[in-house]
Amino acid sequence: MHLVRFDDSRLGAVVGDEVVDITHVVPESTPADGRMRALINAWPSVRDAAEQAVTAGVTVTALADVTLLAPLDAPTKIVAAPVNYRDHTAEMVDLVGEQLIETYKGFLKAPSSMIGPDMLIRLPLPDRRTDYEGELGLVIGRPARSVSRADALDYVFGYMPLLDMTIRGDEDRSFRKSADTFTPVGPGIITADEIPDPAGLSLRLWLNDELRQDANTADLVWDVPMLIEAYSRVMTLQTGDVIATGTPAGVGEVHPGDRIRLSIEHLPELEMHVEPA
Ligand code: MN
Repeated sequence: MHLVRFDDSRLGAVVGDEVVDITHVVPESTPADGRMRALINAWPSVRDAAEQAVTAGVTVTALADVTLLAPLDAPTKIVAAPVNYRDHTAEMVDLVGEQLIETYKGFLKAPSSMIGPDMLIRLPLPDRRTDYEGELGLVIGRPARSVSRADALDYVFGYMPLLDMTIRGDEDRSFRKSADTFTPVGPGIITADEIPDPAGLSLRLWLNDELRQDANTADLVWDVPMLIEAYSRVMTLQTGDVIATGTPAGVGEVHPGDRIRLSIEHLPELEMHVEPA
């Protein structure tokens, strides 16, 4: 299922170019900003109701007529993988020297940096180089603590395109990647049952219609199960937490007014605009 959050934090399932309102499958008392997490928590028991709503198609709106929010309300954390494709590791050598995921393992992005497709990316330090990084994002479906690689995919709720916007420079990654608007995600989450194996997904990113990144998640250094094993060993991954799996070669800088398009196989395309000057 393709799940979105829209307008005043309503929950929807996308079918073609329409969205079916499925807000009613979570308790009415759920705070608006907690609805997606509530849906994920209850998914095994509310999935049938959601599917029935889709089949009935009672409350349907054209996708073009709604405002899409980041599909997740604030996660407790966004854990991100640095230099997780060999070809990106190689291209970064000139810029920052050799770095390996085996050394750096992971970093945190502020949850407040997350935005949906109908918001703009803003460049807080316009005199500094700011890059796009196209990534496969995954959403954790239930608390994961010391999960083995073999069991890891059981803890994934779904997948979504994710941009890890980055100011280049000497500051800590958490500072350079946590600016407001620096984690665009969506437009929706595709539930994991539709993607049994997150390895082997093609990933392409265009900047103003010029193809800049063209890769496959089969080339991840640490694949999705390994990332979950490594991160859940030291921190409990909570329901609705997000993992950014890393970016392949082809990162580059953005400027005011630019348009970024990220297309990952089996996922809805994420298109974002950088705020004009
Ligand atoms: Mn990244």
